[in-house]
Amino acid sequence: MSSSPSLHPLLDHGIPTGDPSFPGGDLHCRCPADRVTVRLASNVAHNHACGCSKCWKPAGSLFSLVGVVPRDALSVTAHADKLYIVDPEAAIQRYACQGCGVHLYGRIEREHPFRGLDFVHAELSDQTGWQEPQFAGFVSSIIEQGFPPQGMEEVRARLRGLGLETYDALSPALMDLIATFTAQKSGARSANL
Ligand SMILES: [Zn+2]
Ligand SMILES: [Zn+2]
Repeated sequence: MSSSPSLHPLLDHGIPTGDPSFPGGDLHCRCPADRVTVRLASNVAHNHACGCSKCWKPAGSLFSLVGVVPRDALSVTAHADKLYIVDPEAAIQRYACQGCGVHLYGRIEREHPFRGLDFVHAELSDQTGWQEPQFAGFVSSIIEQGFPPQGMEEVRARLRGLGLETYDALSPALMDLIATFTAQKSGARSANL
């Protein structure tokens, strides 16, 4: 291997394909004992690599891997008392473990296009079958966290080599969802269309 920086441990050596019929499973924090456990009664959707500074990522990784599940499909089943909200002012309230720092889930309480969806990291599960990453979002944001701009061409090429199209915000499908929400709010579009 070259000395290229790690995109993410699960991206550096190719992406295992998920199982479309995978029913969900448990996520665990990384404490050696008394692990916070979150049960997902659903596979993740819109799973993607995210370069933003807010999503939890393994140490040394340029990207987070994050997907969503319906809020109703998520329940904390062990050691919920260890969770705290990283930034109560943020749109996404990320619940992290006080012991190990891992983010177990992110939830939106205010009016927002993605309200009703919780953000989760399937890599915190011991199980396989979770949806594979679909694209890479907020790629240019890694520069804000110190990555050299001249390395971006290589990073984007590596992501595309994995079959992940790269965007500097979110994928067109998710940007369309956000814009539709905005249009419905402003009255430019009727909510039931
Ligand atoms: Zn922990
Ligand atoms: Zn992010």
